[in-house]
Amino acid sequence: MSDIQKQFLDILTDVRAHLEYQRALGVKSIEAGAPNIQIPVVQPAVASLPKEQIILTPGAPPVAKEPEKTVAPSQTGQPLTLESIREEIGDCRRCKLHKGRTNIVFGEGNPKAVIVFVGEGPGFEEDQQGRPFVGAAGQLLTDIIEKGMNIKRAEVYICNIVKCRPPNNRNPEPDEVESCIGFVKQQIRAIHPTVIVTLGNVPTQNLLNTKQGITKLRGVWQEYEGIPVMPTFHPSYLLRSPGEKKWVWVDIKNVLKKLGMQVPTKG
Ligand code: SF4
Repeated sequence: MSDIQKQFLDILTDVRAHLEYQRALGVKSIEAGAPNIQIPVVQPAVASLPKEQIILTPGAPPVAKEPEKTVAPSQTGQPLTLESIREEIGDCRRCKLHKGRTNIVFGEGNPKAVIVFVGEGPGFEEDQQGRPFVGAAGQLLTDIIEKGMNIKRAEVYICNIVKCRPPNNRNPEPDEVESCIGFVKQQIRAIHPTVIVTLGNVPTQNLLNTKQGITKLRGVWQEYEGIPVMPTFHPSYLLRSPGEKKWVWVDIKNVLKKLGMQVPTKG
């Protein structure tokens, strides 16, 4: 196969993956400059979920056709959106982690994502940049999403159980989790994804309210407020134990299947 043919094939693969993800988001048609093009595939189970219809214009970000979803009121009585949750956090000093932080790491990604990844807490790089998963473990998570799942990182949502960096990257303590976990729960409620992926012990045990360890729970579908949860290993653990990556790939393939998306053959 020539280089041009290979590039063309790569582009087609990317376009297909993008369309499948949009379909999982509930998009039924895209605008391509001329008449609407129907996405001609049998609707997966997730497509029937109540996601707003989005119109895509080439070169422009997705535009919501309907007003921003409001799922439940926040504690202040305002509609629950990611913006209102961030506002509620403010310059938070609700737990002792505020003392050592440089930045609050709220989370980032598509506010209408069908997949939310929940990690433990910010590390050094995340604290410096104010963004989740941007260090070495973050690069691995990005690879899992972009190379493994064939989805752009910006199309999923990524956040942590605690928003401020624990000293020396230790696990957050129970009182810190208790002070902060309400925010990630609100984020999940505002986004209302189709699937949650918990990364490691801390988010898995605290979201699911269990003492069982990740080694036992990994790969077994759980549920949080009616949303399927796939617990898997944290990318930091995979950096220390690369042999375990194969299990994460098994879990990720199950997530793709749950979303009705094509499972790439690589991996
Ligand atoms: S970890 Fe959460 S609760 Fe604690 S100070 Fe940071 S934002 Fe506030």
